[in-house]
Amino acid sequence: MDSKILVTRSSMPSFEEYCNEIKEIWDSRWLTNSGVKHQTLEKELSAFLGVSNLALCVNGHQALECIIEVLGLKGEVITTPFTFVSTTNAIVRKGLKPVFCDIKKDDFTIDPEKIEALITEKTSAIMPVHVYGNLCDDEAISKIAQKYNLKVIYDAAHAFGVKRNGVSSASLGDASMFSFHATKVFHSIEGGAAVFKDSENYALINQWKNFGINGEELQFFGGNSKMNEFAAAMGLCNLRHLASAIASRKEVVMRYRERLEGIKGLTLSAVQKNVESNYAYFPVVFDPAVFGSNRDDVLNALGKQGIGARKYFYPLTSSVIAFGDKSLVEKTPIAENISQNVLCLPLYEGLGTQNADRICNIIAALGKESL
Ligand SMILES: *Cc1c(COP(=O)(O)O)cnc(C)c1O
Repeated sequence: MDSKILVTRSSMPSFEEYCNEIKEIWDSRWLTNSGVKHQTLEKELSAFLGVSNLALCVNGHQALECIIEVLGLKGEVITTPFTFVSTTNAIVRKGLKPVFCDIKKDDFTIDPEKIEALITEKTSAIMPVHVYGNLCDDEAISKIAQKYNLKVIYDAAHAFGVKRNGVSSASLGDASMFSFHATKVFHSIEGGAAVFKDSENYALINQWKNFGINGEELQFFGGNSKMNEFAAAMGLCNLRHLASAIASRKEVVMRYRERLEGIKGLTLSAVQKNVESNYAYFPVVFDPAVFGSNRDDVLNALGKQGIGARKYFYPLTSSVIAFGDKSLVEKTPIAENISQNVLCLPLYEGLGTQNADRICNIIAALGKESL
């Protein structure tokens, strides 16, 4: 058993498998700009996720910026501050104003009941996040979007392969962004994808991600967000082993749940009904008054044993925007409370139940009940 445990560790194919996959790249000397690996990965991912109009990008963040460009969003976008900074960054960097909506206590996704009050005549879209792979209440969100004629763009960076009632997370909303960063359940070292409901947007993003070029015409000024062949090759390899990677994560998650569920003062993420999870993260929310130790105590105790956990997500992205202006943070009290008390435990393929037990023992020992 490793004594040092990081909060995450990338899944990898064997060295031989990757070398074999990149052999053709050597032979063809076609390294980027929609090569064979790129084309194959787009096809395989579309089939796996059960969608059309999937465009690969250099990373998830750029996919999100491209989606905003393709859909031509303007004005205000309703989103949540309980996310990785990328979601808010994309909105701000594209010249839009993020309007922060609070989240639900049980699964940390946007609270649809609080969206309508935030809509103004400037609102053009809702950008919810499937946090930790928990799916947003897409039915309620799309009803609101239809009523006010808003676009819905999901930050699905955490939700690769997640399904509700057999329906892929990738088929929700007008568009979804996936991240294939090295730390994600499925990765291509760096990488990402945009998935669109409408097929004309697939053609458009291919233009946006390649400087706006369309044949000889330059209709608008796009950036450069293309995925290269080596990244696509890593994606092709990892996709073959995804099922076993998820099964290995599931084993650890089940052990964490079994060991931590009964401890007073700990709240685990709700198990969503009819949802097939990808076991991406394992957040625990600590109530210090009841548990006896706070989130930072737990983080430090694990750290002393060489175990890395992560305050994910802390701080709220709204606090970053406001540069310390507390009033923006106070508008989403549930998100702020979770952010102050949540800790993500180590979780990756191959972590194993013995390590999970070791981590749970350290946590349990910090609780009142054990004293
Ligand atoms: C990882 C992540 C992103 C950004 O994806 P990159 O591929 O790293 O650019 C965006 N949003 C969320 C919620 C993420 O976890």
